[in-house]
Amino acid sequence: MTRYDVIVIGVGAMGSATVYQLARRGLRVLGLEQFDIPHDRGSSHGTNRIIRLAYWEHPSYVPLLRRAYELWREIEHVSGDRLLVITGSVDAGPEESPTVRGSLRSCALHHLYHETLDADALHARYPGYRLAPEMVAVYQPDGGFVMSERSIVAYVNAAHDAGADVRAREPVLGWEAHGDGVRVRTARDTYAASKLVLTAGAWAGTLVPDLARLAVPERQVLIWTQPRRPERFRLDTFPVFNMEAAEGRFYGFPAYGVPGFKFGKYHHRGEVTDADRVDREIHPEDEAVLREGIRRYFPDADGPTMALKPCLFTNSPDEHFIVDVHPGLPQVSIAAGFSGHGFKFASVVGEIMADLATAGGTRFDLGLFRLARFNG
Ligand SMILES: Cc1cc2nc3c(=O)[nH]c(=O)nc-3n(C[C@H](O)[C@H](O)[C@H](O)COP(=O)(O)OP(=O)(O)OC[C@H]3O[C@@H](n4cnc5c(N)ncnc54)[C@H](O)[C@@H]3O)c2cc1C
Repeated sequence: MTRYDVIVIGVGAMGSATVYQLARRGLRVLGLEQFDIPHDRGSSHGTNRIIRLAYWEHPSYVPLLRRAYELWREIEHVSGDRLLVITGSVDAGPEESPTVRGSLRSCALHHLYHETLDADALHARYPGYRLAPEMVAVYQPDGGFVMSERSIVAYVNAAHDAGADVRAREPVLGWEAHGDGVRVRTARDTYAASKLVLTAGAWAGTLVPDLARLAVPERQVLIWTQPRRPERFRLDTFPVFNMEAAEGRFYGFPAYGVPGFKFGKYHHRGEVTDADRVDREIHPEDEAVLREGIRRYFPDADGPTMALKPCLFTNSPDEHFIVDVHPGLPQVSIAAGFSGHGFKFASVVGEIMADLATAGGTRFDLGLFRLARFNG
Protein backbone atom coordinates (compact mmCIF):
# COMPACT_ATOMS: atom_id res chain seq x y z
CA MET A 1 0.00 0.00 0.00
CA THR A 2 1.38 3.43 -0.95
CA ARG A 3 2.05 5.56 2.11
CA TYR A 4 2.02 9.37 2.32
CA ASP A 5 2.61 11.96 5.00
CA VAL A 6 -0.74 13.62 4.24
CA ILE A 7 -3.76 12.77 2.08
CA VAL A 8 -6.09 15.62 1.05
CA ILE A 9 -9.61 14.61 -0.02
CA GLY A 10 -11.14 17.07 -2.50
CA VAL A 11 -8.95 19.12 -4.87
CA GLY A 12 -11.15 22.18 -5.33
CA ALA A 13 -10.52 25.66 -3.93
CA MET A 14 -9.34 24.72 -0.43
CA GLY A 15 -7.83 21.35 -1.35
CA SER A 16 -5.66 22.62 -4.22
CA ALA A 17 -4.12 25.33 -2.01
CA THR A 18 -3.63 22.81 0.81
CA VAL A 19 -1.88 20.26 -1.41
CA TYR A 20 0.48 23.01 -2.62
CA GLN A 21 1.26 24.30 0.87
CA LEU A 22 2.01 20.78 2.12
CA ALA A 23 4.15 19.83 -0.88
CA ARG A 24 6.23 23.01 -0.66
CA ARG A 25 7.02 22.09 2.96
CA GLY A 26 8.64 18.92 1.63
CA LEU A 27 5.91 16.49 2.67
CA ARG A 28 4.78 13.48 0.65
CA VAL A 29 1.23 14.49 -0.19
CA LEU A 30 -1.58 12.89 -2.17
CA GLY A 31 -4.56 14.95 -3.39
CA LEU A 32 -7.63 12.96 -4.42
CA GLU A 33 -10.40 14.46 -6.56
CA GLN A 34 -13.57 12.69 -7.65
CA PHE A 35 -14.10 14.74 -10.86
CA ASP A 36 -11.76 16.59 -13.26
CA ILE A 37 -9.42 19.39 -12.17
CA PRO A 38 -11.00 21.88 -12.40
CA HIS A 39 -14.68 20.95 -12.87
CA ASP A 40 -18.09 22.61 -12.76
CA ARG A 41 -20.02 20.41 -10.31
CA GLY A 42 -18.90 21.88 -6.99
CA SER A 43 -18.60 25.41 -5.61
CA SER A 44 -15.66 26.93 -7.47
CA HIS A 45 -16.58 27.30 -11.16
CA GLY A 46 -17.89 30.37 -13.01
CA THR A 47 -14.66 32.32 -13.73
CA ASN A 48 -14.17 34.45 -10.60
CA ARG A 49 -15.03 35.16 -6.96
CA ILE A 50 -15.24 38.45 -5.05
CA ILE A 51 -12.53 39.37 -2.56
CA ARG A 52 -13.18 42.28 -0.18
CA LEU A 53 -11.36 43.53 2.90
CA ALA A 54 -14.07 45.57 4.68
CA TYR A 55 -15.59 42.32 5.88
CA TRP A 56 -19.11 42.97 7.17
CA GLU A 57 -19.55 39.37 8.36
CA HIS A 58 -17.06 39.75 11.27
CA PRO A 59 -13.88 41.75 11.88
CA SER A 60 -11.99 38.52 12.77
CA TYR A 61 -11.83 37.72 9.06
CA VAL A 62 -9.69 40.77 8.28
CA PRO A 63 -6.30 39.40 9.46
CA LEU A 64 -6.98 36.24 7.46
CA LEU A 65 -7.83 38.37 4.44
CA ARG A 66 -4.59 40.31 4.70
CA ARG A 67 -2.67 37.04 4.57
CA ALA A 68 -4.97 35.74 1.79
CA TYR A 69 -4.06 38.76 -0.37
CA GLU A 70 -0.34 38.12 0.18
CA LEU A 71 -0.72 34.48 -0.76
CA TRP A 72 -2.81 35.26 -3.87
CA ARG A 73 0.01 37.52 -5.01
CA GLU A 74 2.49 34.76 -4.23
CA ILE A 75 0.71 32.10 -6.32
CA GLU A 76 0.29 34.66 -9.11
CA HIS A 77 4.04 35.09 -9.07
CA VAL A 78 4.69 31.34 -8.99
CA SER A 79 2.22 30.62 -11.81
CA GLY A 80 2.83 33.73 -13.94
CA ASP A 81 -0.97 34.02 -14.32
CA ARG A 82 -3.15 37.04 -13.40
CA LEU A 83 -5.33 35.67 -10.60
CA LEU A 84 -6.19 38.68 -8.39
CA VAL A 85 -7.84 41.69 -10.05
CA ILE A 86 -8.43 44.84 -7.99
CA THR A 87 -11.54 46.92 -8.78
CA GLY A 88 -12.47 48.32 -5.36
CA SER A 89 -15.51 46.96 -3.51
CA VAL A 90 -18.91 48.32 -2.52
CA ASP A 91 -20.84 47.07 0.52
CA ALA A 92 -24.31 48.58 0.25
CA GLY A 93 -27.56 48.60 2.21
CA PRO A 94 -29.63 50.78 4.48
CA GLU A 95 -27.46 52.76 6.89
CA GLU A 96 -28.42 50.59 9.88
CA SER A 97 -28.18 47.25 8.02
CA PRO A 98 -25.77 44.53 9.24
CA THR A 99 -23.87 44.90 5.95
CA VAL A 100 -23.14 48.62 6.27
CA ARG A 101 -22.64 48.59 10.03
CA GLY A 102 -20.48 45.44 9.86
CA SER A 103 -18.36 46.77 7.03
CA LEU A 104 -17.77 50.07 8.86
CA ARG A 105 -16.90 48.18 12.03
CA SER A 106 -14.22 46.14 10.25
CA CYS A 107 -12.87 49.33 8.67
CA ALA A 108 -12.70 51.09 12.04
CA LEU A 109 -11.14 48.18 13.96
CA HIS A 110 -8.55 47.41 11.28
CA HIS A 111 -7.90 50.96 10.09
CA LEU A 112 -9.01 50.30 6.52
CA TYR A 113 -9.20 53.21 4.14
CA HIS A 114 -12.82 53.60 2.99
CA GLU A 115 -15.45 56.14 1.91
CA THR A 116 -19.17 56.20 2.66
CA LEU A 117 -21.26 57.36 -0.30
CA ASP A 118 -25.00 57.89 -0.63
CA ALA A 119 -26.94 56.53 -3.62
CA ASP A 120 -26.49 59.67 -5.74
CA ALA A 121 -22.78 60.01 -4.98
CA LEU A 122 -22.18 56.35 -5.87
CA HIS A 123 -24.10 56.76 -9.14
CA ALA A 124 -22.13 59.91 -9.98
CA ARG A 125 -18.86 58.06 -9.53
CA TYR A 126 -19.91 54.63 -10.82
CA PRO A 127 -22.95 55.20 -13.06
CA GLY A 128 -23.77 51.48 -13.38
CA TYR A 129 -25.10 51.63 -9.80
CA ARG A 130 -28.66 52.78 -8.98
CA LEU A 131 -29.04 52.12 -5.27
CA ALA A 132 -32.42 52.74 -3.61
CA PRO A 133 -32.51 56.23 -2.04
CA GLU A 134 -32.34 54.87 1.53
CA MET A 135 -29.15 52.89 0.80
CA VAL A 136 -25.55 53.89 1.40
CA ALA A 137 -22.34 52.33 0.09
CA VAL A 138 -19.06 51.65 1.85
CA TYR A 139 -16.40 51.86 -0.85
CA GLN A 140 -13.07 50.17 -0.07
CA PRO A 141 -10.34 50.32 -2.73
CA ASP A 142 -8.69 46.93 -2.04
CA GLY A 143 -11.69 44.83 -3.12
CA GLY A 144 -11.79 42.94 -6.40
CA PHE A 145 -11.97 39.35 -7.52
CA VAL A 146 -9.93 36.16 -7.75
CA MET A 147 -10.00 33.96 -10.86
CA SER A 148 -11.46 30.74 -9.47
CA GLU A 149 -10.83 27.84 -11.85
CA ARG A 150 -7.51 29.38 -12.88
CA SER A 151 -6.41 29.57 -9.24
CA ILE A 152 -7.13 25.89 -8.77
CA VAL A 153 -5.10 25.12 -11.90
CA ALA A 154 -2.27 27.36 -10.65
CA TYR A 155 -2.18 25.63 -7.27
CA VAL A 156 -2.23 22.14 -8.77
CA ASN A 157 0.54 23.00 -11.24
CA ALA A 158 2.62 24.48 -8.42
CA ALA A 159 1.89 21.44 -6.24
CA HIS A 160 3.10 19.15 -9.03
CA ASP A 161 6.28 21.19 -9.32
CA ALA A 162 6.79 20.78 -5.57
CA GLY A 163 6.43 16.99 -5.88
CA ALA A 164 2.78 16.36 -4.95
CA ASP A 165 0.84 13.39 -6.25
CA VAL A 166 -2.61 14.57 -7.44
CA ARG A 167 -5.19 12.17 -8.84
CA ALA A 168 -8.44 13.23 -10.50
CA ARG A 169 -11.43 11.01 -11.35
CA GLU A 170 -10.65 9.01 -8.24
CA PRO A 171 -13.58 9.31 -5.81
CA VAL A 172 -12.88 8.48 -2.18
CA LEU A 173 -15.32 5.78 -1.08
CA GLY A 174 -14.34 5.75 2.59
CA TRP A 175 -11.63 6.48 5.14
CA GLU A 176 -10.79 5.21 8.60
CA ALA A 177 -8.39 5.94 11.41
CA HIS A 178 -5.69 3.27 11.51
CA GLY A 179 -3.40 3.39 14.55
CA ASP A 180 -2.42 7.03 14.76
CA GLY A 181 -2.68 7.41 10.96
CA VAL A 182 -5.42 6.89 8.37
CA ARG A 183 -6.38 4.63 5.49
CA VAL A 184 -8.29 5.99 2.51
CA ARG A 185 -10.15 3.77 0.05
CA THR A 186 -10.90 5.05 -3.45
CA ALA A 187 -12.53 3.56 -6.52
CA ARG A 188 -9.03 2.49 -7.65
CA ASP A 189 -6.84 1.78 -4.62
CA THR A 190 -6.24 2.07 -0.88
CA TYR A 191 -3.70 4.52 0.53
CA ALA A 192 -2.20 5.08 3.97
CA ALA A 193 -1.02 8.34 5.52
CA SER A 194 -0.03 9.85 8.84
CA LYS A 195 -2.52 12.72 8.44
CA LEU A 196 -5.77 13.39 6.59
CA VAL A 197 -7.20 16.74 5.47
CA LEU A 198 -10.85 16.87 4.40
CA THR A 199 -11.64 19.66 1.91
CA ALA A 200 -14.65 18.04 0.24
CA GLY A 201 -16.87 21.12 -0.16
CA ALA A 202 -20.53 20.20 -0.65
CA TRP A 203 -19.67 16.52 -0.04
CA ALA A 204 -18.28 17.07 3.50
CA GLY A 205 -21.29 15.36 5.08
CA THR A 206 -20.79 12.26 2.93
CA LEU A 207 -17.27 11.76 4.29
CA VAL A 208 -17.99 12.77 7.91
CA PRO A 209 -21.62 11.99 8.79
CA ASP A 210 -21.56 14.41 11.76
CA LEU A 211 -20.99 17.23 9.28
CA ALA A 212 -24.19 16.50 7.36
CA ARG A 213 -26.20 18.90 9.56
CA LEU A 214 -23.36 21.47 9.81
CA ALA A 215 -22.31 21.78 6.15
CA VAL A 216 -25.52 21.78 4.14
CA PRO A 217 -25.47 22.11 0.32
CA GLU A 218 -27.74 24.70 -1.28
CA ARG A 219 -28.42 25.23 -5.01
CA GLN A 220 -27.40 28.63 -6.45
CA VAL A 221 -27.69 30.14 -9.94
CA LEU A 222 -25.50 32.84 -11.51
CA ILE A 223 -26.33 34.99 -14.52
CA TRP A 224 -24.17 36.93 -17.00
CA THR A 225 -25.98 39.67 -18.97
CA GLN A 226 -24.69 41.83 -21.80
CA PRO A 227 -25.09 45.41 -20.46
CA ARG A 228 -27.03 47.95 -22.50
CA ARG A 229 -24.25 50.38 -21.58
CA PRO A 230 -21.10 48.22 -21.43
CA GLU A 231 -18.87 51.19 -20.60
CA ARG A 232 -20.52 51.30 -17.15
CA PHE A 233 -19.57 47.70 -16.30
CA ARG A 234 -15.88 47.58 -17.11
CA LEU A 235 -13.00 46.84 -14.71
CA ASP A 236 -12.17 50.53 -14.38
CA THR A 237 -15.76 51.80 -14.02
CA PHE A 238 -17.45 49.18 -11.84
CA PRO A 239 -16.25 47.94 -8.42
CA VAL A 240 -17.47 44.51 -7.23
CA PHE A 241 -20.37 44.71 -4.81
CA ASN A 242 -22.28 42.99 -2.06
CA MET A 243 -25.69 44.54 -1.41
CA GLU A 244 -28.34 44.07 1.26
CA ALA A 245 -31.59 44.99 -0.53
CA ALA A 246 -35.29 44.63 0.25
CA GLU A 247 -35.40 41.59 -2.11
CA GLY A 248 -32.38 39.86 -0.50
CA ARG A 249 -28.60 39.99 -0.75
CA PHE A 250 -27.14 40.51 -4.24
CA TYR A 251 -23.53 40.51 -5.46
CA GLY A 252 -21.87 41.21 -8.77
CA PHE A 253 -18.80 41.87 -10.89
CA PRO A 254 -17.65 43.94 -13.85
CA ALA A 255 -17.43 42.09 -17.18
CA TYR A 256 -14.17 40.12 -17.34
CA GLY A 257 -12.93 36.87 -18.85
CA VAL A 258 -16.28 35.84 -20.33
CA PRO A 259 -18.98 38.09 -21.87
CA GLY A 260 -21.32 39.96 -19.57
CA PHE A 261 -22.00 41.51 -16.19
CA LYS A 262 -21.98 38.72 -13.58
CA PHE A 263 -24.73 38.83 -10.96
CA GLY A 264 -26.03 36.55 -8.20
CA LYS A 265 -28.35 36.45 -5.21
CA TYR A 266 -27.19 34.84 -1.96
CA HIS A 267 -29.31 31.79 -1.16
CA HIS A 268 -30.97 32.26 -4.58
CA ARG A 269 -34.31 30.43 -4.13
CA GLY A 270 -33.51 28.79 -0.78
CA GLU A 271 -33.16 25.28 -2.23
CA VAL A 272 -31.40 22.98 0.25
CA THR A 273 -30.12 20.02 -1.74
CA ASP A 274 -27.84 17.02 -1.95
CA ALA A 275 -24.57 17.51 -3.84
CA ASP A 276 -25.10 14.32 -5.90
CA ARG A 277 -28.74 15.02 -6.72
CA VAL A 278 -28.84 18.80 -7.20
CA ASP A 279 -31.02 20.09 -10.04
CA ARG A 280 -28.50 21.35 -12.61
CA GLU A 281 -31.14 22.52 -15.10
CA ILE A 282 -31.93 26.24 -15.31
CA HIS A 283 -35.61 27.23 -15.00
CA PRO A 284 -37.43 30.47 -15.88
CA GLU A 285 -37.88 31.16 -12.13
CA ASP A 286 -34.09 31.16 -11.72
CA GLU A 287 -33.64 33.95 -14.21
CA ALA A 288 -36.67 35.86 -12.88
CA VAL A 289 -35.18 36.10 -9.36
CA LEU A 290 -31.95 37.55 -10.79
CA ARG A 291 -33.54 39.87 -13.36
CA GLU A 292 -35.62 41.47 -10.59
CA GLY A 293 -32.43 42.66 -8.87
CA ILE A 294 -30.70 43.72 -12.09
CA ARG A 295 -33.68 45.75 -13.30
CA ARG A 296 -34.04 47.60 -10.03
CA TYR A 297 -30.41 48.32 -9.08
CA PHE A 298 -28.41 47.95 -12.34
CA PRO A 299 -30.88 48.84 -15.12
CA ASP A 300 -28.08 49.58 -17.61
CA ALA A 301 -27.00 45.93 -17.32
CA ASP A 302 -30.44 44.55 -18.16
CA GLY A 303 -29.53 43.34 -21.68
CA PRO A 304 -29.47 39.89 -23.30
CA THR A 305 -28.50 36.81 -21.32
CA MET A 306 -24.99 35.53 -21.97
CA ALA A 307 -24.97 32.58 -19.55
CA LEU A 308 -26.76 31.02 -16.57
CA LYS A 309 -25.00 28.45 -14.40
CA PRO A 310 -25.90 26.42 -11.30
CA CYS A 311 -23.44 26.20 -8.39
CA LEU A 312 -23.43 24.98 -4.77
CA PHE A 313 -23.12 26.82 -1.47
CA THR A 314 -22.34 24.69 1.60
CA ASN A 315 -23.87 26.48 4.58
CA SER A 316 -22.95 26.14 8.23
CA PRO A 317 -25.68 27.07 10.77
CA ASP A 318 -24.10 30.49 11.54
CA GLU A 319 -22.55 30.92 8.06
CA HIS A 320 -19.06 31.11 9.53
CA PHE A 321 -16.53 28.55 8.29
CA ILE A 322 -15.60 25.23 9.87
CA VAL A 323 -11.80 25.02 10.10
CA ASP A 324 -10.64 22.68 12.84
CA VAL A 325 -9.02 19.44 13.90
CA HIS A 326 -11.51 16.54 14.10
CA PRO A 327 -12.75 16.42 17.72
CA GLY A 328 -11.97 12.72 18.22
CA LEU A 329 -9.09 12.17 15.79
CA PRO A 330 -6.07 14.50 16.02
CA GLN A 331 -4.66 13.13 12.75
CA VAL A 332 -7.68 14.45 10.79
CA SER A 333 -8.44 18.11 10.06
CA ILE A 334 -11.46 19.62 8.35
CA ALA A 335 -12.17 22.71 6.22
CA ALA A 336 -15.89 22.88 5.36
CA GLY A 337 -19.07 24.95 5.46
CA PHE A 338 -17.72 27.96 3.57
CA SER A 339 -21.28 29.30 3.29
CA GLY A 340 -21.02 31.17 0.00
CA HIS A 341 -18.09 33.40 0.97
CA GLY A 342 -15.07 31.12 1.19
CA PHE A 343 -13.20 31.31 -2.09
CA LYS A 344 -11.32 34.53 -1.35
CA PHE A 345 -9.80 32.75 1.68
CA ALA A 346 -8.65 29.61 -0.18
CA SER A 347 -5.04 30.80 -0.32
CA VAL A 348 -4.82 31.27 3.45
CA VAL A 349 -6.98 28.22 4.25
CA GLY A 350 -4.35 26.18 2.36
CA GLU A 351 -1.69 27.54 4.69
CA ILE A 352 -3.82 26.94 7.80
CA MET A 353 -4.66 23.35 6.82
CA ALA A 354 -0.96 22.68 6.22
CA ASP A 355 -0.28 24.11 9.71
CA LEU A 356 -2.97 21.93 11.30
CA ALA A 357 -1.73 18.80 9.53
CA THR A 358 1.92 19.37 10.40
CA ALA A 359 1.80 21.11 13.78
CA GLY A 360 -1.75 20.54 15.08
CA GLY A 361 -2.21 24.33 15.40
CA THR A 362 -1.71 27.61 13.57
CA ARG A 363 -0.77 31.22 14.32
CA PHE A 364 -4.16 32.35 12.98
CA ASP A 365 -7.13 32.84 15.30
CA LEU A 366 -9.61 30.08 14.48
CA GLY A 367 -11.98 30.96 17.34
CA LEU A 368 -14.86 31.76 15.00
CA PHE A 369 -14.43 28.51 13.07
CA ARG A 370 -14.24 25.83 15.77
CA LEU A 371 -16.59 22.83 15.61
CA ALA A 372 -17.21 23.07 19.36
CA ARG A 373 -19.39 26.17 18.83
CA PHE A 374 -22.18 23.87 17.62
CA ASN A 375 -22.06 21.58 20.69
CA GLY A 376 -25.44 21.32 22.34
C1 LIG B 1 -22.58 30.91 -7.07
C2 LIG B 1 -21.49 31.08 -6.05
C3 LIG B 1 -20.91 32.33 -5.86
C4 LIG B 1 -19.92 32.51 -4.90
N1 LIG B 1 -19.34 33.74 -4.77
C5 LIG B 1 -18.29 33.89 -3.93
C6 LIG B 1 -17.55 35.10 -3.92
O1 LIG B 1 -17.86 36.03 -4.68
N2 LIG B 1 -16.50 35.21 -3.08
C7 LIG B 1 -16.11 34.18 -2.26
O2 LIG B 1 -15.15 34.34 -1.52
N3 LIG B 1 -16.78 33.00 -2.28
C8 LIG B 1 -17.83 32.83 -3.09
N4 LIG B 1 -18.49 31.64 -3.16
C9 LIG B 1 -18.12 30.58 -2.24
C10 LIG B 1 -16.89 29.84 -2.66
O3 LIG B 1 -16.89 29.65 -4.06
C11 LIG B 1 -16.81 28.54 -1.89
O4 LIG B 1 -16.82 28.85 -0.50
C12 LIG B 1 -15.56 27.75 -2.22
O5 LIG B 1 -15.46 27.58 -3.61
C13 LIG B 1 -15.60 26.43 -1.51
O6 LIG B 1 -14.42 25.71 -1.79
P1 LIG B 1 -14.28 24.18 -1.40
O7 LIG B 1 -12.88 23.81 -1.64
O8 LIG B 1 -14.88 23.97 -0.05
O9 LIG B 1 -15.26 23.41 -2.43
P2 LIG B 1 -14.93 22.93 -3.91
O10 LIG B 1 -14.07 23.88 -4.63
O11 LIG B 1 -16.23 22.52 -4.53
O12 LIG B 1 -14.03 21.65 -3.67
C14 LIG B 1 -14.45 20.46 -3.04
C15 LIG B 1 -13.90 19.33 -3.87
O13 LIG B 1 -13.97 18.10 -3.18
C16 LIG B 1 -14.23 17.11 -4.14
N5 LIG B 1 -14.73 15.93 -3.46
C17 LIG B 1 -15.82 15.85 -2.65
N6 LIG B 1 -16.01 14.60 -2.21
C18 LIG B 1 -15.01 13.85 -2.74
C19 LIG B 1 -14.67 12.46 -2.65
N7 LIG B 1 -15.42 11.59 -1.94
N8 LIG B 1 -13.58 12.03 -3.31
C20 LIG B 1 -12.80 12.90 -4.04
N9 LIG B 1 -13.09 14.22 -4.17
C21 LIG B 1 -14.18 14.69 -3.52
C22 LIG B 1 -15.24 17.78 -5.04
O14 LIG B 1 -15.41 17.11 -6.27
C23 LIG B 1 -14.66 19.16 -5.17
O15 LIG B 1 -13.78 19.30 -6.26
C24 LIG B 1 -19.50 31.42 -4.11
C25 LIG B 1 -20.07 30.17 -4.31
C26 LIG B 1 -21.04 29.99 -5.27
C27 LIG B 1 -21.63 28.61 -5.49
